[in-house]
Amino acid sequence: MNKEGRSESSEESGTEKWFSETTTAVLDAFQSDPDSGLNQEEVDRKREKYGENRLPPPSRRSPLKRFFTQFNNLFIYLLLIAGVATAFLGKWLDSGVIFGVVVIIAVIGFIQEGKAERALESVRGMLSRKAVVRRAGQRREIAAEELVPGDIVILDAGDRVPADLRLLRSRSLEIQEAALTGESTAVGKQSDPVEEGAELGDRLSMAYSSTVVTSGQGTGIVVATGDATEIGRISGMLSEVEQLKTPLTVRLDLFAKQLSVVIVVIALLTFSVGTIGWGREWSEMFFAAVSIAVAAIPSGLPAVMTVTLAIGVERMARRNAIIRRLPAVETLGGVTTICADKTGTLTRNEMTAKTVRTVDKDIQVEGVGYEPKGRFLDDGATIDVGELDDVSGMLRAGLLCNDASVRQQEQEWKTEGDPTEVALIVLARKAGFDPDRENSDWRRIDAIPFSSERRYMATLNRDSDGNHHIYVKGAPEHVFEMCTGEWKDGGIAEFDIDAWDQRAEDIAARGQRLLAVARKETGAKGELEEKEAEQDLVLLGLFGMVDPPREEAIRSVEICHRAGIGVKMITGDHVTTAGAVARELHLNNVENALRGRDIEEFSDDELERQVRKVDVFARASPEHKLRLVKALQKHHEVVAMTGDGVNDAPALKRSNVGIAMGQKGTEASREASDMVLADDNFASIERAIEEGRKVYDNLRKAILFLLPTNAGEALIIVTAVMLGMLTPISPVQILWINMVTAVSLGIAFAWEKAEGNLMQRPPRNTEEPLLTGFTIWRIAFVGSLLLLGAGGLFLQEQARGVSTVDFARTMAVNALVMGEIFYLLNSRFFTRSSISWQGLVGNRAVLLAIVACIGLQIFFTHVPFMNLLFESAPLDAGAWARCVAVGLAVFFLVEIEKFLFRRWSTPGGRESNKP
Ligand code: ATP
Repeated sequence: MNKEGRSESSEESGTEKWFSETTTAVLDAFQSDPDSGLNQEEVDRKREKYGENRLPPPSRRSPLKRFFTQFNNLFIYLLLIAGVATAFLGKWLDSGVIFGVVVIIAVIGFIQEGKAERALESVRGMLSRKAVVRRAGQRREIAAEELVPGDIVILDAGDRVPADLRLLRSRSLEIQEAALTGESTAVGKQSDPVEEGAELGDRLSMAYSSTVVTSGQGTGIVVATGDATEIGRISGMLSEVEQLKTPLTVRLDLFAKQLSVVIVVIALLTFSVGTIGWGREWSEMFFAAVSIAVAAIPSGLPAVMTVTLAIGVERMARRNAIIRRLPAVETLGGVTTICADKTGTLTRNEMTAKTVRTVDKDIQVEGVGYEPKGRFLDDGATIDVGELDDVSGMLRAGLLCNDASVRQQEQEWKTEGDPTEVALIVLARKAGFDPDRENSDWRRIDAIPFSSERRYMATLNRDSDGNHHIYVKGAPEHVFEMCTGEWKDGGIAEFDIDAWDQRAEDIAARGQRLLAVARKETGAKGELEEKEAEQDLVLLGLFGMVDPPREEAIRSVEICHRAGIGVKMITGDHVTTAGAVARELHLNNVENALRGRDIEEFSDDELERQVRKVDVFARASPEHKLRLVKALQKHHEVVAMTGDGVNDAPALKRSNVGIAMGQKGTEASREASDMVLADDNFASIERAIEEGRKVYDNLRKAILFLLPTNAGEALIIVTAVMLGMLTPISPVQILWINMVTAVSLGIAFAWEKAEGNLMQRPPRNTEEPLLTGFTIWRIAFVGSLLLLGAGGLFLQEQARGVSTVDFARTMAVNALVMGEIFYLLNSRFFTRSSISWQGLVGNRAVLLAIVACIGLQIFFTHVPFMNLLFESAPLDAGAWARCVAVGLAVFFLVEIEKFLFRRWSTPGGRESNKP
């Protein structure tokens, strides 16, 4: 292939075998440079040509398929059987109505499921992918969609590869390519060309879009974007529809199945009693049996559940908590312990260097923010650090061993990269250093980036005389171990680790985060080996930085404590620093912090004993997090755990709610998580828990509303048949009520506001059964009230002997619906009184549902067409008044029951507001 004259057209072919070409050839072909990358002009031109680096959206189930899956439901099967049977009996009208209702149910289910799916999808769309590129000589973080062929991309552990890359450099780079090859073990990658015939899995010189970097680092040039990538070609396979299921809905499904069996038994029993016991016509009794089934099955429940959860997801997203797995919405409400990372989650992650410590000087630095203004003070007196070689050496080390940038744009300081490193740049600028000049005078040859496990970063630099130097910065305990000397009086002295430990302790006691810097001259020239970087260093000094706690985190910690939720802080920082920050955050048990080392020494049993007594874990790494989660779960704690690194994934998966960071988190941690914090802020976790508690309450309220109303409807028919009477409500009328009340009224709970004291009560018991004693009592109580009200009116009307059966039945239907409407108001609060302005009109959705329901009842009662279909009859004002009276009676009786319950339950107790 002619590499010299290769033009843009050579980039175009998606089948180009870049993996078998040398890196120089690939760079030539894309006219790119590994050090400077593309410039903006080239990027714009290529964007125009290749478009955005976006994969086609995963294919969704077709609407038709989604519509037909609505019929795959036990309740619908029952209705279909009933419809066919009624047709056989020659009751064409009834049969038509039943089939009509089946279609309506499917349409409603279809619309609601669509709404829920859209809600989830829009939330998922909020998690955009990022990529780190080198453009116009600068390292920048951009949205992955903005990548174009020729871009130089930097990969780090935990990243998801943003496009197809030909690797230019790699350092222990391992990539898991399951998304492409199905192979789940990670493959070691390198930059040498591989043979032309290599299969996808053997192309070790490539990093393919959507695969995950499990360890190491690498740099690559983009060779294909969007549809042209390997994954883009097979993206049809990516269609993945998340199930709208949670532990509660699974339990409910099971409950519905068991309930159906009971209902069918009752229906059969009623049928037998009617035909055999009372000698009634069997077709009539069959019809009655079907209406019992229709009445008793809580058909509206699944729709109510789905919509309530989906609305919860949307609301959480508005509060910066993006749900990735739906069950988390529900689990969040039951969280008992939050294990949160310190930096960035509890603190602002805006570091400012405050202390520069050399062997003999403890220098304080003034100034706030990123502006390079602030004096250096030694014992209160301003000093010029330019004159102090040891301090200048430290500041230079901080600049060179650094990947961040700070630039001024229109009066504002823009920063990019790790805040710890940003702080070092700001610090050096305060002393008059020019970062660009330093970096060109001390050219970087290679680097070992910082990682939470390694806890240091190292660079290899060449000075203008051609000498090579290694710079290392990192956690003091680690760096101290690598040092054999210290910089003192312009020369190298023997390293006195005890003295430095004491100095570190002193700075940490001020609540400052510690960073040690060291250097050495080296013979190494090309690659920087870890082994070489980790020994015989000369310690230059220590930096101390502050990272103030987030104001809102302090408040949220307090709210969590009041809500009975434990907050534990896990940090990679020094134990003394961690303790000082924990005190500022008002955490409990800050005195007896545990260190990662202690956790390692503890047996599982010992850790279990300790874990609840300690709220601060310092110098902890990802493996420690996993053990902590397990130990807490042994105590039946429901644990929410935050994490951002690639190695946090196991702990996130293991915890009950794994929480990843939307901003500083790695893609790998996000994928292991149940929820992502868009703003990395602890306060968002607390708010999500509050929202989760509300969703769970609303689900329970919907159950507490729907089950008794279904019971009431079924009771009316069972009682009538058992007593050998005419049924007060006909089967098709029952169907009507079920659809009108269940769907329009029950859904209103999805929008119910919190019941005031959500975060002042202890977490719910997640092992609590679905049907508590209270729920069973409510079903019986309200079911009986509805039976008495509707059945009573029907009998009274019959006894008067003046009206038709249709008229009496219409009254029973309306009385029942009125009872349900008023019971809806009761159900808005578990035990609190609904007799208040807030209780009656506080929820717009409830009011709308009621207005809609009344409208539909008027339609049902007064429109001739409906009279024909449902055998209803127009009512006069007096009849309407009596129906409303039944509703009012239900309302006041339930309020009396709630009042008695409030009286009897222990105030402040676990069940005081939530039976
Ligand atoms: P967490 O986010 O879990 O609270 P953390 O962010 O404090 O922890 P790490 O980022 O793992 O923990 O940092 C641990 C230690 O590593 C820090 O106390 C600091 O001494 C050192 N360190 C942090 N960032 C860098 C960096 N960019 N380069 C070198 N060393 C660093």
